[in-house]
Amino acid sequence: MTKVYMDNGATTPVDPKVIEAMQPYFSEVYGNPSSFHSFGREGRNAITEARDKVVELIGADYTKELIFTSGGTEADNYAIKGVASALEAKGKHIITSAVEHHAVLHTCKYLEKRRGFEVTYLPVDEDGLVNPEDVKDAIREDTILITIMMANNEVGTIQPIAQIGEIAKEAGVTFHTDAVQAVGTIPVDVNELNVDLLSLSGHKFNGPKGVGALYIRKGTRINKFMHGGAQERNRRATTENVPAIVGLGKAAEIAMEGLEQKQEKLVSLRDKLISGIEERIDHIKLNGHREKRLPGNVNVSIKYIEGESILMKLDLAGIAASSGSACTSGSLDPSHVLLSMGLTHEVAHGSLRLTLGKYNTKAEVDRVLEVLPKVVADLRSMSPIYNG
Ligand SMILES: *Cc1c(COP(=O)(O)O)cnc(C)c1O
Repeated sequence: MTKVYMDNGATTPVDPKVIEAMQPYFSEVYGNPSSFHSFGREGRNAITEARDKVVELIGADYTKELIFTSGGTEADNYAIKGVASALEAKGKHIITSAVEHHAVLHTCKYLEKRRGFEVTYLPVDEDGLVNPEDVKDAIREDTILITIMMANNEVGTIQPIAQIGEIAKEAGVTFHTDAVQAVGTIPVDVNELNVDLLSLSGHKFNGPKGVGALYIRKGTRINKFMHGGAQERNRRATTENVPAIVGLGKAAEIAMEGLEQKQEKLVSLRDKLISGIEERIDHIKLNGHREKRLPGNVNVSIKYIEGESILMKLDLAGIAASSGSACTSGSLDPSHVLLSMGLTHEVAHGSLRLTLGKYNTKAEVDRVLEVLPKVVADLRSMSPIYNG
């Protein structure tokens, strides 16, 4: 059976050129980058080169502004907790949105529950968009941080980050964006976006898992994240994960060179998939903004059936997708993102996310368009609500 992977929003396959670049750093180049000798220097140089590439990908002004982390989750934790602890004497109010990734939401909840912070969770409209005016209205005397994601991992909606950034700048409030779904897929420029902090992750753009970065604009007040050695300009102690960092650098280089091409390809596959689904299946709803959306994201609610059952049947046919409803650990709670967009529990439960990556083909889209309508018809034939 030919398998089709359409869960690139969860993770992407590693580019073979990335694997090739990493290889030597698992074997012959093993020196500790902090060591004085030539073995150490080789590792140090590899990190410097990788940092230059990631800095270039996001348009940062200084290499000092980029700290490598263990992934997107750590970058989000570091940004939010680091600013919170550096500025808590000034104020304890944070603004975020209702549709953030759990790496942001659960961090905010922790600060609320355990550290006495107050958090405003801004609502979104039916397309999943945050209104910049709402951000402006929510800013108070004691607001120390605004954290709004750039692109949503479930429904693909792209937020007006540059506008929100301008509002934050005018108000003098530190602004963080979780750009994990955006970096390497759409253009990201920290200056155009007016952000002070930005999170990214390697495995979402064909790099390795377990490595990411936090951009910290020069002058941003933030406390260090891990105490110990003096690595990462004294901000994040621990011996650097050299192979992973090299892989992230290579992924950034590849993404930079092929960004326009990748976007064009994904948009064309995505639109073919969306229109194909809309033509072949009735009673469906596209979730997320139709234009302001990630090039590879398709999220639909297929009414009268459960997302989980669709996933199981697709998996049996060799198609890997994800449910927009219960994203983690087999939990049957409907997605907080879809509920925030005003979907009912029933409709949220019937959602399906297909996320395309740079290795997907037209033939694979055709295969999904052949299998999915049959799966839906099958499940609906057993659905009392549909038949009733
Ligand atoms: C995947 C993802 C994360 C977490 O990144 P990891 O590297 O897996 O920790 C955070 N935010 C968003 C929007 C994501 O899609």
